[in-house]
Amino acid sequence: MNREKMEIILQKIKEYNRIIIFRHFRPDGDAIGSTKGMREILKLSFPEKEIYLLNSDYSDYLEFLGGEDEPIADELYSEALALVLDTGSENRISNKKYKLCREIAKIDHHIDHQPYGDYCWIEEEKSSTCEMVAEFYYTFRAELKINKEAATYLYLGMVTDSGRFRFNSVDGDTMRYAGMLLDEGIETDKLFANLYIKDFEELKFQSYVYKKMKVTENGVAYIFVDKAMQKKFDLTSEQASACVSHLESIRGSLIWAAFIENAEKKEIRVRLRSRFVTVSEVAERYRGGGHACAAGATLLAKKEIKTILSELDERLKNYKENNEGWI
Ligand code: AMP
Repeated sequence: MNREKMEIILQKIKEYNRIIIFRHFRPDGDAIGSTKGMREILKLSFPEKEIYLLNSDYSDYLEFLGGEDEPIADELYSEALALVLDTGSENRISNKKYKLCREIAKIDHHIDHQPYGDYCWIEEEKSSTCEMVAEFYYTFRAELKINKEAATYLYLGMVTDSGRFRFNSVDGDTMRYAGMLLDEGIETDKLFANLYIKDFEELKFQSYVYKKMKVTENGVAYIFVDKAMQKKFDLTSEQASACVSHLESIRGSLIWAAFIENAEKKEIRVRLRSRFVTVSEVAERYRGGGHACAAGATLLAKKEIKTILSELDERLKNYKENNEGWI
């Protein structure tokens, strides 16, 4: 079944002379890794085709991976295949010009609540879209080519989206594809240094987060990063929102959340994470979605922080009462 879907996507790639690759806005390692990895594989495998990676935003944190393509004329979209990676819903596609493309092929691992696209290969249980692109390469390796650069992009997305291979979504295949990519000669020491070394100021912000974090009655850990805090540490919204990961290892806090006040609009971005407990359904009620244990939402007013926290608290309470073995 999935093999058939993959074959259709490969067929479509072969049919088109121009392929434009898209991803979600506010990109993470998987969005950037999968699109850059796929772009490289397609360029190597089909040198006669025009392959573009065109988006409308980027990530400072992943700047070390290099940029994407310069904008092209709108007319060029109409004859192209849009290949959308790692993007669960249409409204999250970074570059809205995907609509100008003739057809849409989609590869993704998000929960598929708002289906879109003409040819889709979606596997919600996969640890990353990068793993799917690695599998795509492996399945059609007789026709496709890979190199160290493409392997590095894909490996980065696999590492970051799986919490460094810690999440339950990691299975034997994940490690087998990771092994295949490592065989291309990835410089893991350089890659991990780029991903995880922090500036002095970032660590100071981290210690401030620990000072200011709170916990609800049943253990939901959270931090509200207001505009003042962002100004105090001179943070971009990307740097501010990265703080959700600082709350991930608190015993008994199986759910944790960061609320990031938007510097321009009245909105508050929510980043939700959990272990064992599903939180995506709560995110969906607040204009969001994502994965069972990593989701995001948007609040329209500060008072919604209280309501979402009480829903999360209730969920955690129920979970703790009805399950054993949680940590
Ligand atoms: P984030 O906290 O932004 O890293 O998001 C965690 C996961 O939830 C990612 O897979 C996102 O694609 C997804 N996500 C975040 N925000 C939203 C949203 N507003 N709607 C749907 N999915 C989201």
